[in-house]
Amino acid sequence: MGFRPFICRLAEKHGLFGEVDNRTDGVSVIVQGDINSVDRFSNDILHCAPPASHIKSIEINTVQFSTYDSFKITESKTVDDHITEISPDIAVCNDCLNDLEKDTERIDYPFINCTNCGPRFTIIEGLPYDRPKTTMKIFRMCDNCNSEYNNILNRRFHAQPIACNSCGPVYSYKDSIKSINGITQILDELSEQIASGKTVAIKGLGGYFLMCDALNNNAVGELRRRKHRDSKPFAVMFRDIPAVRKYCFVNEEEENELKSWRRPIVILKQKKKLSDAVNGGLNTIGAMLLYMPVHYLLFRIIHTPALVMTSGNLSDEPIIIDDLIAEKQLMSIADSLLSHNRQILNRTDDSVIRIIDQKTSLIRRSRGFVPQPVELRCNVEGILALGAEQKNSFCIGKGSQAVMSQYIGDLKTPGTYKFFIETIERFSDLFKFKPEFVTCDLHPDYLSTHYAEHIGNELNIPLLRIQHHHAHIASCMAENRIDEEVIGISLDGTGFGSDENIWGGEFMIADLKGFRRFTHFDYVPMPGGEKAISEPWRMAFSYLFKYFGDSIDYKSIPLFESIDKKKLCLIKEMIISNINSPLSSGAGRLFDAVSALLGLCSEATFDSEAPMRLESVINAETNDFYPFGTTETIVFADTFKAILKDIPKLGIPVISAKFHNTIARVILKVSKQIRKDTSLNKVILSGGVFQNKYLLEKSSYLLNQNRFKVFTNHIVPANDGGISLGQLAIASKMRGLCV
Ligand code: ZN
Ligand code: ZN
Ligand code: FE
Repeated sequence: MGFRPFICRLAEKHGLFGEVDNRTDGVSVIVQGDINSVDRFSNDILHCAPPASHIKSIEINTVQFSTYDSFKITESKTVDDHITEISPDIAVCNDCLNDLEKDTERIDYPFINCTNCGPRFTIIEGLPYDRPKTTMKIFRMCDNCNSEYNNILNRRFHAQPIACNSCGPVYSYKDSIKSINGITQILDELSEQIASGKTVAIKGLGGYFLMCDALNNNAVGELRRRKHRDSKPFAVMFRDIPAVRKYCFVNEEEENELKSWRRPIVILKQKKKLSDAVNGGLNTIGAMLLYMPVHYLLFRIIHTPALVMTSGNLSDEPIIIDDLIAEKQLMSIADSLLSHNRQILNRTDDSVIRIIDQKTSLIRRSRGFVPQPVELRCNVEGILALGAEQKNSFCIGKGSQAVMSQYIGDLKTPGTYKFFIETIERFSDLFKFKPEFVTCDLHPDYLSTHYAEHIGNELNIPLLRIQHHHAHIASCMAENRIDEEVIGISLDGTGFGSDENIWGGEFMIADLKGFRRFTHFDYVPMPGGEKAISEPWRMAFSYLFKYFGDSIDYKSIPLFESIDKKKLCLIKEMIISNINSPLSSGAGRLFDAVSALLGLCSEATFDSEAPMRLESVINAETNDFYPFGTTETIVFADTFKAILKDIPKLGIPVISAKFHNTIARVILKVSKQIRKDTSLNKVILSGGVFQNKYLLEKSSYLLNQNRFKVFTNHIVPANDGGISLGQLAIASKMRGLCV
């Protein structure tokens, strides 16, 4: 994006005539002039391209001579069904930040942008990317903007969202008693609101957010109370890098990510506490830097170095983008509302990443990343992969590109399911996509599965159901462009197994065509089904009861002292009589059990809370680990026995480290067994549990030490947000075999 103007300025620089146009299959450039200049021009395309652009390939051909007397941008042409990549949204650039103080038409203009920055995906309605196909179409350019838009030498030449103080979108402020227009007056009011501990709903790039002073205990506590968000961490927007450094440990890779044009939330280790209520006692902070011009204007006048900046939505509903809904729903949470009149068309949450092993791990892939495609080695044209149910994303196949949707969320929430359907339609339209083959999870009750069945029937196209953990492994193979048999290790919470049990501690010999389950974590009953996920103490009991029955005194274990005796009896009865106690090999359940046993989390208030708390307490350096059994399955009887022994003696941080080391050892041991049997040497680690930094770094270290080649997810999440890519890769391989 911003590519045509860049080409134009480059041609100007080298004294070349010709034309450039945007096509649906890429950018076409014709240049005419001295051959050396043409060479230098071609070289410069690669070396000087705008920061957010990504040149996949350049093809050079000779064309018929025609007489050009200038270099110009011509009308966009639709050539065929191929697609031009749509740029993700880009954080405001330094040139524009300077202009906020200097450009007379744009002094303090909160929608300033240029070809190198600004909204893209969130405002686009269709292709080719031109202003009439964006939500900027309703703003008529003023004479000044118009002349900049048409001036090749200007940085805003063909910047589609170009605008200024006299012609562009504006912010408006509202609270229960007054409305304010005019950015200066609005900022003054906001600064007072933040200083007095109020919560403000603010319309951002991809949706509405709720913000308040991250250092004000009352403000953050009140926001948490009003949002009914028990202890799930809030993201924090910091004034600048020094402010981040005051509260978090930041290494070089983390700093680069924080400052990148994608401006994701980066999970950092906490150095100094903000308000207690920000991260609910975890030792990490989800930090990000400012990315919209209005953030800069705001931080210019507020005093706090950090604002809580959390999605504006009700519980699990998608982030709100609609102004009327925002007013209706968010005004009950926030004290005031800062809105603007540039419509958000494509909803995006803030993306979340974590640096693990010096590399980027995506936890939530949305703003700044979407819809950048993943380049694959296989032909995925026409495949629609519908993903899992939680943290859903779907994927469409265009040629050898996988275009993955933004983070959609948990499909069980009605608003999220609607967002899922709408986004599939939007992507089909934007990318001229018509499904010829549909694929989904093996789980019969996922809403994505139901939708796949519906599409399959309606379009009369083949449907392929793919086992959840096979898809996890394939997602990692696909992004690492591996198409051979591997050692596939998938650790996560829940996934429907081929034997109809719940899987999630899986060691497979897999390729893109299929898998063989080599071994897995022991099956353990989940008393109460789903309830056992939100109440980890149930899993603690279930593990102990499985391994030790009545031979131990449960009441002597601190965790069970606090649990109602009747409840314990009931759970035991459920397990013995096999009432609503499905069997699970989920690694997440094992982490839940240990976390509960150590007194860290007996009831979870948000997804993965127990494992997160378990990882969070580690502050000890130890390579010790607990014993475990590897017979037909991975048996943790000795592990639990040793943990129970350690509880009165050792600190919780050490026990947690030893437990994590144990899982890393399991991974190493099973990998060695598989290598011995098969001579496979590539190990794929995928599944939500590998978002655990300590575990992934430890496991990779051990595997590397033992000369394994280790592959992990970097372009898509290791959690269920990456499943659709795996499904796409498997479907591409299988569709020949299926039809
Ligand atoms: Zn800019
Ligand atoms: Zn203007
Ligand atoms: Fe999963």
